[in-house]
Amino acid sequence: MILSYDESLKQLGGYGKNTPTVNEDLYFNRRGYCQYCEKEIKVIHEKSILDISTLPGAGWYKIEKVWECDKCGWWEHVFDSYIDGENSWDMKDWSLTVNSAILKKFNVDAKDVPIKILSEYINKNPDKVHEIHHRKMEELVGDVFGEHYSCEVHHVGRTADGGKDLILVESDKTIIVQVKRRTLAGKTEGASSVRELIATTLLTDSRDCIFVTTADHFSEQAICEKNIALTKSIVDSYELYDRDKFLGVLDLVKKDAEKPWIRMLEM
Ligand SMILES: [Zn+2]
Repeated sequence: MILSYDESLKQLGGYGKNTPTVNEDLYFNRRGYCQYCEKEIKVIHEKSILDISTLPGAGWYKIEKVWECDKCGWWEHVFDSYIDGENSWDMKDWSLTVNSAILKKFNVDAKDVPIKILSEYINKNPDKVHEIHHRKMEELVGDVFGEHYSCEVHHVGRTADGGKDLILVESDKTIIVQVKRRTLAGKTEGASSVRELIATTLLTDSRDCIFVTTADHFSEQAICEKNIALTKSIVDSYELYDRDKFLGVLDLVKKDAEKPWIRMLEM
């Protein structure tokens, strides 16, 4: 099961001279507590300012805080504002914005799990790569190679598949990619599929190909045939990625995902 806290629920509250009373309860809700783990959680971002320039003569108090659970990753963002300007602006108003993360669950083999979430999950749980949906595996390879080789990636539709799943387009060449998501960790990728990709590549008017498998190794015969294709210049390049080699590249291109609450900060 993949857990994600990328999405959130926004709630607004407020009251005062110029603010209709809304959702006053929001002020009394418990903060800094993860209901999933049932524990107190830490403030990971905090800023407070007294703004005296936006409304001259008034004081505008703003406090912003983010809490995050170090166990499950659940987070909550709060922006609290109070304008104290009764004499100058006839304002005495409170408002509160609360963004609370929503837990979303995906099965590892789901077709609807966003690729960013799947990619982070596989990076942390490499053994689960055998369980992901075969179409998601193709998408993951496309995502990783697009970044790694800095190229354009075309996904080939199932019907058009003749042993190719992706086409990588670099400035002067196209690379044909075959992806095999094997469900067993100890599987050996044999020579026949490696040989088949040579034919597919040539039939597609390309001279470069990559074979990616979640099997943990290629057979000696498979490696031998790949080398023959290269020494005889049947193709210009042929790369074999077994499970660990692919996971190595996945790790290489991983980016520190931006925290979802960053885009909610008011100051
Ligand atoms: Zn938690």
